[in-house]
Amino acid sequence: MKNVKHAKCVKCGKIYEATPHLTNCTCGGILDIIYDYDYIKANLTKASLAARQDNSMWRYRELLPVEETTEAPPLRVGWSPLYEAKLLANELGIRKLYVKDDGLNPTASLKDRASSMAVAKAMEAGAKVIACSSTGNAASSLAGNAAAAGLKTYIFVPSRAPKGKVAQLMTFGATVISVQGSYEETFELSKQAIEKWGWYNRNAAINPYLSEGKKTVGLEIMEQLNWEVPDYIAISVGDGCTIAGLWKGLKDLYAIGFIDRLPRLISAQAEGCCPLNRAIETGEEWRPMEENTLADSIAVGVPRNADKALMAIRESNGLVVNVSDAEIMAAQKLLGRTCGVFGEPAGVTGAAGLKKLCQQGKIPADATVVSVVTGNGLKDVANAIAACGEPISIPGDMELLLKAFADNGIVVE
Ligand SMILES: *Cc1c(COP(=O)(O)O)cnc(C)c1O
Ligand SMILES: [Zn+2]
Repeated sequence: MKNVKHAKCVKCGKIYEATPHLTNCTCGGILDIIYDYDYIKANLTKASLAARQDNSMWRYRELLPVEETTEAPPLRVGWSPLYEAKLLANELGIRKLYVKDDGLNPTASLKDRASSMAVAKAMEAGAKVIACSSTGNAASSLAGNAAAAGLKTYIFVPSRAPKGKVAQLMTFGATVISVQGSYEETFELSKQAIEKWGWYNRNAAINPYLSEGKKTVGLEIMEQLNWEVPDYIAISVGDGCTIAGLWKGLKDLYAIGFIDRLPRLISAQAEGCCPLNRAIETGEEWRPMEENTLADSIAVGVPRNADKALMAIRESNGLVVNVSDAEIMAAQKLLGRTCGVFGEPAGVTGAAGLKKLCQQGKIPADATVVSVVTGNGLKDVANAIAACGEPISIPGDMELLLKAFADNGIVVE
């Protein structure tokens, strides 16, 4: 890879050759991929990028850690829409707000960005099998992206994973192990199995290439905003790979001179499971927490990517905000009603956090903000119904319709 120098441990600084099978450093630290920005600058310009027809994350090839000969995996991942959300901006009292709907990826979450990368690297490694543990979305996205590329998958999910995600897994033909325990126990079992059978490892904080896939969300936001840097980007945080990836993408663009400043990150977690935000708030080391939230995708009591995530939040002079399940449900409804965007609970947690910060007066009214919706609401319809209610249910009779409108206080326009 001409654009990549090597991988470097974020803890001890040890350098590794960037081979496809990289995992953690011998010290236990996670690795970061280090690029040759001079090479990238010489090979990528804003104009050459704008001329590209490839509307997927692979349009940023010069910034991705793959061999030049590696083919992009089959599913079209990335280039999700960035909507200007005027109604929601009014509601929140900020000047300019954009919503990036990453629930429109092929398996309906931002995780497709990491899984597409995992499949590309597994191909480079000559692997036939990929495995991961996941709260649900990494699993379904790996299963889908791998299926399209003809790779077998072994997937470990906690038994609490919502039905929609499990249905995706079964549809994509994964071998699924539903672990009767927490995500932490699920992760540990997957780790042992991966060691035993030598499968390609798609566990996000272990495989350093995955956050490089996720960083494309940041690259896209900036290109879609025509390189005009927003003041804040709000996103939900579980393991911490997504926010770390987002930050890496932004820093890459800064390093190659495509943007001249960096936004502040807003790290949104659930009150019932916020070990990373708590570490920022207290200034202490992060400590494990229970996984007490309906936002299953970010119910991660033992975040595996703590070092990179905390670094990203601190370096960006970021804000942290914890929201209750009720606030998450309210945000689901609000995004639906003002944007027509249907997010799963974890998908809208960034927006819930943004709303809370706005109410607390922590976001200046003249700010430009991007809120990333990380997963689609169809994955978890039970919680959507719980958040937004049941429909009016009547027999097919006009009299009863009139009565139902009257009973529900509906004034017909
Ligand atoms: C995985 C996930 C997140 C958080 O990503 P992390 O890398 O675990 O921090 C947020 N939202 C959704 C929908 C997810 O699936
Ligand atoms: Zn190390």
